[in-house]
Amino acid sequence: MAQRVRALKAQGREVVSLLLGEPDFPVPSLLQEAAIAAIRAGHAPYPPVSGVEALREAIAQYYANRFGASFLPEQVVVSNGSKQAIYNSLLALIEPGDEVLVPVPYWVSYLPLVHLAEGRAVLLPTTAESGYKLLPDQLEAAITPKTRALLLNSPSNPTGRVYTRSELAALVAVLERHPQVWIISDEIYELLIYEGQAVSMAEFPSVRDRVIVCNGFSKAFAMPGWRLGYAMAPPAVAQALSKLQGQTTAGANVIAQNAALAGLRADIEALVQPMRQAFAQRRVVIYEYLSRHLPALRPYLPEGAFYYFLDVGAYLGRQTPNGTPIPDADALTEYLLENGVAVVSGTGFGSPSHIRISYAVSLEAIQEGLRRIHQALESLT
Ligand code: PLP
Repeated sequence: MAQRVRALKAQGREVVSLLLGEPDFPVPSLLQEAAIAAIRAGHAPYPPVSGVEALREAIAQYYANRFGASFLPEQVVVSNGSKQAIYNSLLALIEPGDEVLVPVPYWVSYLPLVHLAEGRAVLLPTTAESGYKLLPDQLEAAITPKTRALLLNSPSNPTGRVYTRSELAALVAVLERHPQVWIISDEIYELLIYEGQAVSMAEFPSVRDRVIVCNGFSKAFAMPGWRLGYAMAPPAVAQALSKLQGQTTAGANVIAQNAALAGLRADIEALVQPMRQAFAQRRVVIYEYLSRHLPALRPYLPEGAFYYFLDVGAYLGRQTPNGTPIPDADALTEYLLENGVAVVSGTGFGSPSHIRISYAVSLEAIQEGLRRIHQALESLT
């Protein structure tokens, strides 16, 4: 879709893009300076496979401070983005045919990553009523002797929903009964929360020896193009992740590692606050607009990340003004694009009756985008 938008813009068409999965903010200047200093240091040897020691220590310290979860630096494996941390975790844990539980809607890369690791993704559909969250009974019913891992993402892309401590505790109570199941916890949006509190799966001692935390710097430090993430795992798994990474990409870029280290050593709250404040304001503007003009999309206030996941079911089965049928979200996103606004179809997230809009774009773009969505949906018959 991003490529389509670029092509349309190159033809001179004016399109509002609500696609972005990355902050519309620059890398904080403190981090930019640290990266520049790393370049100016002049040397560029191969980095340690698992990450620069000081950064591994700072990451472990960050989880201790923020979540009261202590990790040893040797349990931290710095990677080229958190996507690599998730992929390495799956490669390390999954034997061909092992089942990996994936709540729906899911982040687009989860299924391909499970398939690349020769696992079998078992999809667990959720509902708007549960806040698109996995329920304990559902988890219990899905676990078989072949279940090897659960892939959990909170705050969620695409729904923006955040599991509360008690909701996670209820899932943990189920997992306690199934010691063969690992938990891959994708916590990449944990610093972007507007209501409630971030909770890490590493906070639950009863399953702590089978949790792999995956996190990174693409969102909170607005540096997705610098490709830096990390996994934290029990020592044997951390070693396996490192071994895998050593033979594929090797260690992550040291320039980015120096920047992230500067960020972790600074006042993180102060670094993230301007961006979080802007997202929080945009989130409310969208909610008010949708509640007033497009309640059929069943808008809710997402607690975290920077997305709205909207139910377009009420508009499916209709026709465009020139008679094109709109059977699903893919057709609807095409139609919206023709009307000058780009959104992501829910199909890639496992939900063909939803669309995702991002609010990591300016307030002006959001307002104009919403106006176009409203007008286009109103024109369906
Ligand atoms: N996990 C989720 C839920 C995401 O939304 C993303 C990026 O959009 C990632 C992981 C990957 O992030 P990165 O590889 O840039 O660290």
